[in-house]
Amino acid sequence: MRLKNIPGSRESIAGSPFVVQAPELCRGRWREVFKTPGPLYAEIGMGKGKFLMEMARRYPDINFIGIEKYSSVLLRAVQKMEEDPLPNVRLVRMEAEDLESVFSPGELTRIYLNFSDPWPKDRHAKRRLPSAAFLARYARVLCPEGEVEFKTDNRDLFAFALGELEGSGFQIRELTYDLHRDERLCRDNVTTEYEERFSAAGRPICKYILSRREESKEGNHVSALFPDMGDL
Ligand code: SAH
Repeated sequence: MRLKNIPGSRESIAGSPFVVQAPELCRGRWREVFKTPGPLYAEIGMGKGKFLMEMARRYPDINFIGIEKYSSVLLRAVQKMEEDPLPNVRLVRMEAEDLESVFSPGELTRIYLNFSDPWPKDRHAKRRLPSAAFLARYARVLCPEGEVEFKTDNRDLFAFALGELEGSGFQIRELTYDLHRDERLCRDNVTTEYEERFSAAGRPICKYILSRREESKEGNHVSALFPDMGDL
């Protein structure tokens, strides 16, 4: 999401109590940032924040951190927070590549990637947020039970993301190529801005949920892909 540069957005963000201004100083101490203790979930590339804020309202015992690299985009989320301040949400303007300077090993419980930029050119593959290089970063900041949830309408990006899993240490727990027609996975689905737009245009939404946990039973991978077949 790239909005045109909005004059003053950097200044508004710098003065906002909802934005963590020096996130590196919170490394290993994110729990102190929030009023109540609870697991930390982060959305990387949160855009205007609809998903993050709806999740935060629905799950008040979880603390949510919204990460976005552009001030002009983050500003929209800041404005929403001003209208409805949520105690369990904080926003950070940062580049996802710097994740490890902001979170200590094991600090996060879940990472959401929603409608990440596809970066279609091969030479930009490393910038894709579900790439192996990024998965390695996520693995380092997630706790042992940590999870990554990824949604996209872009089949090429989704195929790429699946191809990056081998050797990543993540297992597929859930997978669908049409989330909105998957009764079970859609039940608790909170839509994002892009998701509303793409599904209204008739585009199916792909989603996976990855878990860091080693599965003890072989075949779990397959049964996640074909749940009707049970454990093979
Ligand atoms: N999650 C929102 C927005 C999707 S657009 C939704 O589903 O509606 C992708 C967003 O990710 C954009 O706002 C973009 O600025 C942000 N983004 C892309 N790469 C990023 C990176 N490396 N670090 C932080 N934010 C990033």
